[in-house]
Amino acid sequence: MADIFSKIAAGEIPSYKVAANDEFYAFLDINPVAMGHTLVIPRREVDYLFDMEDDELARMIVFAKRVAKALKKAFPCRKVGVAVLGLEVAHAHIHLVPMQSEKDMDFRKEKLSPKPEELEAAAARIRSFFE
Ligand code: AMP
Repeated sequence: MADIFSKIAAGEIPSYKVAANDEFYAFLDINPVAMGHTLVIPRREVDYLFDMEDDELARMIVFAKRVAKALKKAFPCRKVGVAVLGLEVAHAHIHLVPMQSEKDMDFRKEKLSPKPEELEAAAARIRSFFE
C-alpha cells in the first residue's frame, strides 16, 4: 500500500503544491515551523533520504535548491534552513524552512496551524517565483 507522501505526489491526497517535475514533488507542510515551510519528496517510494542512490539524491538536492530559491523570494529570510528528520513519515523528504533565526529550525516548538486559504496563498506565492 502506498504511503501518504506517495499518494500526495500522485495527487490522490490533496496538498498545497509548490513545485514538481517527473521525479520530485514539493508541497507545504500543513503544520509548519515557519510560514513557507516546504517538504521536497521523491515520487518514488523510499523510506529515508540517505537510502537513495547517489544520482537520484543529487538530482533531488538540485531540485530542492530551485525550490529554496523560490522560497527565499516568496518569504524573505536570512537563509532557507534545511533539515532531514523522517521520524513521523517513512517517505524520504527534505524540510525547507525560511529562517529568521535558529529558533525557526526548532522542530520541538509548537507548530503553526495556518488556515487553508493562508496555505493556498503561500503556495501560490512560492509557485510564482519557481524557475
Ligand atoms: P518527519 O517525518 O519527522 O520529518 O515529519 C513529517 C512532517 O510532515 C511533519 O512536519 C508534518 O507536519 C508533515 N506532514 C504530515 N502529513 C502531512 C500532509 N498530509 N501534508 C503536509 N505535511 C504533512
